[in-house]
Amino acid sequence: MIAIYARISKSDTGSSIENQIGIVKNYLSSEEIMADDIKIFIDDGYSGRCSCRPAFVKMLAGVATGEIKVIAVKDFSRFGRNHLFVSELTEVVFKRLNVRFISVADTYDSYKSNDEMLMAFRSIFNEYYCVDVSNKIKSVLYSKNVSGDYAISKTVYGYKNAYTEIDAEEAEIIKAAFCLVADGNSYSETSRKLNDIYRDKKCNWQASDILRIIKNPEYTGSHVWNKYSSVSYLNKRGLVNDRNLWKIDSDVHEAIVSEELYQKANQNSTKIKSSLKSERHIFSGLTKCMKCRYALSMDKRKMGWLVCTKCAEREQKIIKIDDLYNICIGSIKQEFIKKGITFNYDFENDTQTDKRNFLNNFIKTIYAWADKKIEIYWKFGEE
Ligand SMILES: [Zn+2]
Repeated sequence: MIAIYARISKSDTGSSIENQIGIVKNYLSSEEIMADDIKIFIDDGYSGRCSCRPAFVKMLAGVATGEIKVIAVKDFSRFGRNHLFVSELTEVVFKRLNVRFISVADTYDSYKSNDEMLMAFRSIFNEYYCVDVSNKIKSVLYSKNVSGDYAISKTVYGYKNAYTEIDAEEAEIIKAAFCLVADGNSYSETSRKLNDIYRDKKCNWQASDILRIIKNPEYTGSHVWNKYSSVSYLNKRGLVNDRNLWKIDSDVHEAIVSEELYQKANQNSTKIKSSLKSERHIFSGLTKCMKCRYALSMDKRKMGWLVCTKCAEREQKIIKIDDLYNICIGSIKQEFIKKGITFNYDFENDTQTDKRNFLNNFIKTIYAWADKKIEIYWKFGEE
């Protein structure tokens, strides 16, 4: 089925609904992609900033059920003005479900997608990007301070000015981390000792941060690329490639630790089985402890459980990942049902990455605590 989507807000003085539909229909027939089953979705009087427009949501449900294979709009701004949301849909969801997306005025057609069109898409995206700047800055600060994931800032902790300079204070902590692990400390022991030694800096190192540091060859002066998959250029944080896909060039910038120290720490780290809990789970980046608001991690010793490493001396078990996943899928279905839509997407064969991307499209944050106490904050319905 081909879906044509048209929207006009209360304050819009631009093109009318009829005008929008006319332009799209003309384009479809000129491209010979007319089909018998065209369905027109209209939101009259709704802002593009709102993602819970009734016809829009109905159309997305059609995408999720596999009914809709082509979506055409007059221009991107009709589709939505919350561009983080829109680009997640066009770049991740539609691509994954093989939905063709056409924006006539922007000459964007995902089937013909080439660099030029991508550029056009990005420039339009950038036009509205300012709206999201404050959130983006917040999330950068957040990811630096809390999760220790430095993807967005591009330069890893310890370096500054695109690796041309070493940050002396940070480098000292990095060196200390390598030495502690090389001496046989586990990741959690190392993080605890660092937090203690650098008490005045109010650090909050976690075992998973230490693991990420020890495993990062950039500290020996190497440049690592192809670390992140380009599925979504907005959400690099969520999509780290497998280590065997990383490309490493050595002696590119000044080293913080020697090759010997790096190797020694990494040899020891393979012996530390007990603290291998930093593996990314499908809720990575989404789940937080309801009590202390700290990110939840997956613990290999407590198979399949999300734990809060901050709340208790031993990790506090919060919830099983599978249980939480079922709860989330159930709630997403409920959200659709509230809008009069039955949701029949089959999740059985989804890979971990599929699941993570799917959840990321709908969920902003989940606060969880033991006994299935859960608060879910959605992306749809937000202003
Ligand atoms: Zn906690």
